[in-house]
Amino acid sequence: MTDPTSDCVSCGACCFSKNPRYLALSPWDASRPLPAGSLFAEGGQTFVTFDCGQCVHLQLGGGKAVCGVYEDRPEACRAFRAGSFECVKARRANGIMGEKVRDREGEPA
Ligand code: SF4
Ligand code: SF4
Repeated sequence: MTDPTSDCVSCGACCFSKNPRYLALSPWDASRPLPAGSLFAEGGQTFVTFDCGQCVHLQLGGGKAVCGVYEDRPEACRAFRAGSFECVKARRANGIMGEKVRDREGEPA
């Protein structure tokens, strides 16, 4: 990470989306042991479940956003670079800790 303002663990913005088909698995993910219960298939494509506007694997708490499957995270997540154009766009659209996406009532972050 080269941009000190793009600290992923204190951000998590790119792990939020109101689009339930935001995160599709690629052929490179076939060997990754992602929990079957966190995935769904539609139209011949497999997606990671997004509940309430965030990835089902995102763990929020103590001011941190942690990926619960970091070692096995999908290829699309690996390709998403901190400080990139897409990163800045996600931070602007979703807010830090997804504050612009999620329902803040009762959230632990
Ligand atoms: S939006 Fe950027 S800084 Fe935030 S978690 Fe994603 S890659 Fe990291
Ligand atoms: S798998 Fe991990 S890195 Fe990818 S969107 Fe979900 S929480 Fe974020």
